[in-house]
Amino acid sequence: MTDSVQRLAAALQKLPSVGEKSAWRMALHLLEQDEAISYELAHALVAAKQKVRRCDRCFTWSETAICSVCSSENRDTTTLCVVEKPRDMWVLEQSGRYRGVYHVLGGVLSPMNGITADSLTLEELRNRISSEPIAEVIIGLGGSNEAETTAHYISRILQEFPITVSRFARGLSAGMDLEYADRFTLDQALNERRVITGGYR
Ligand SMILES: [Zn+2]
Repeated sequence: MTDSVQRLAAALQKLPSVGEKSAWRMALHLLEQDEAISYELAHALVAAKQKVRRCDRCFTWSETAICSVCSSENRDTTTLCVVEKPRDMWVLEQSGRYRGVYHVLGGVLSPMNGITADSLTLEELRNRISSEPIAEVIIGLGGSNEAETTAHYISRILQEFPITVSRFARGLSAGMDLEYADRFTLDQALNERRVITGGYR
């Protein structure tokens, strides 16, 4: 195969869940398609990379300084859900069951991989709780060991605030990623969340 096709396949293989075979299939498929499709794909990639930034408040992806969820007047600003990545926020948004606001941590604590408290948006989380009318923080992290450690860490640093800290119900936190949870599990996780500290709902 030509160098250019090889390069394209190698680039596609960097995408999640794309193995060598699928990368080649995609590359060859694109070659057979109309040129316009390739231009559209390339243009959309560059535009997304250039226009999308972090929301100044919740740190999800946004094209404006404050994202559409943070700037909406229809959200319950007293409830804040802490998630690991923007994709988790999107999963919850798609379920349509959560009406609060979010805070994207940017990862979970993993000292072995160099992810320490400083590299997450924990300080920003504390600042938000000090300045926003938040009454409950729901820790919406997955169930990995790192996520568990991070959840404990967060509940500890939030102890100084007069708020309720809760976690998603067991079904979700027992080792499942938000990304793979179905709507029923998400519903259950939200409705049956358990309080860790700070009173009762
Ligand atoms: Zn936001």
